[in-house]
Amino acid sequence: MSSLQPYVHLIRDVPDFPKPGILFKDITPLLQSGPALHAAIDELAKITNDLNADVVVGVESRGFLFAAALAYATNRGVSLVRKPGKLPAHKVRLEYSLEYGHDTIEMHSDAVLPGQRVLVIDDVLATGGTAGATASLIQSVGGVVVGAAFLIELSFLAGRARLGDIPVRSVLTY
Ligand code: AMP
Repeated sequence: MSSLQPYVHLIRDVPDFPKPGILFKDITPLLQSGPALHAAIDELAKITNDLNADVVVGVESRGFLFAAALAYATNRGVSLVRKPGKLPAHKVRLEYSLEYGHDTIEMHSDAVLPGQRVLVIDDVLATGGTAGATASLIQSVGGVVVGAAFLIELSFLAGRARLGDIPVRSVLTY
């Protein structure tokens, strides 16, 4: 049994946010609980241990919280995938399509080195658009995406299909 199970009530469902029809999984109550946050990071570490990543990549912005904590707990470094205009040095960018419209992500071109084994972390896997684009960006600089892990997977949105052959792990599935 997952050590996070006693704390799942701390994930708050917010209907119609940020748009009508979306049931938003609000993880802020979970973040506010020391034991729950600890359990969440322990579980992420447990389900990704076999992937032997060299570096953890966090996706802005809630992904940063879990990526940094996991990286610290597993003695790895963390690299950032950010929204446009936030990173100061030489960077690569990727525009990708969402259900409605487009979005863009950026990463420093030296955030991942050629051949490095990369674990992608975000809080929620929904349609998989963001995680898929993140994986493509990492691969474009020569990184090897050995897995993508999430606290929450909304399996009815079939996001893991957007990651192709990349192993997808999640602590909780809805
Ligand atoms: P995706 O559709 O997989 O590209 O999700 C895009 C981003 O939006 C992810 O980084 C999630 O953090 C966030 N997200 C999407 N759907 C939800 C949801 N129902 N509840 C909370 N966060 C969500």
